[in-house]
Amino acid sequence: MQTQRVQALVLTSRPWQEAHRLVDLLTRERGLVRAIAYDAQKPQKPLSSVTQVLTECNLLLGTGDGELGVIIQGTSVAVFQAGATDPTRLAYALAIAEMIVRVAADEAAVRHDLAAVYDDCKVALRRVLDQDGPLVTVSAMMVALFPYAGLAIDTERCGECGTPHMSPPVRFRVASGSGVCRECASQGAARTEWPISEGAWRVLRHLAPLSPVRLGRVHVKPATEQEVCRLLSAMLSENAGISLRGLHVAQQLDPRFRTGK
Ligand SMILES: [Zn+2]
Repeated sequence: MQTQRVQALVLTSRPWQEAHRLVDLLTRERGLVRAIAYDAQKPQKPLSSVTQVLTECNLLLGTGDGELGVIIQGTSVAVFQAGATDPTRLAYALAIAEMIVRVAADEAAVRHDLAAVYDDCKVALRRVLDQDGPLVTVSAMMVALFPYAGLAIDTERCGECGTPHMSPPVRFRVASGSGVCRECASQGAARTEWPISEGAWRVLRHLAPLSPVRLGRVHVKPATEQEVCRLLSAMLSENAGISLRGLHVAQQLDPRFRTGK
């Protein structure tokens, strides 16, 4: 077995058999790695702390011929969820972790260097746990992951006629990730297109060339946040077959989006 020192973010962690844990790691050096930590379920064992979800750690990783790695040693560097008492924020952080596992496990993504995603992920986790408007950060992370799923947003030209947008488009075409101008939209479309508000278009234009690292503080109305997130989620699910359950759960928990009761 070969060994390698890696910097890793624990994205998922679950019990495996009686005593062990199985984790999905985002490593700076090797991208996404699924690894087993023997005896990590037993309290007081050295690997129990480095297999907590949303923890950043330095690990000695064993890798064989198979896809599964083995965590040999580790020390935790940062525990992102430490002190996070708000279940909604925690749910958004877990949704980001799930999103990365789902997109980075895609065959197209495996060939890429994920070091930039590693930095984006750390910033995004801090932001959703500490700042308001977590859905904008989740959306920014989704956009940063799009290239790894073979997706892109075109905010420059109409998805139908190719004319540069002089005014905000009125519809959004999920298949191509582009706006559709008023003239083309009025001719009726057979493809999947959604109405898009001016506010949501402004946010999309802001996010398209960005990553969470460079996002800065953004103030967006909750309804606009949700609209942007819904359009981006539709792009992932309809074009790449990736549906994000954790994100759905987080939005159901979010008091801003609860209706009725
Ligand atoms: Zn057009």
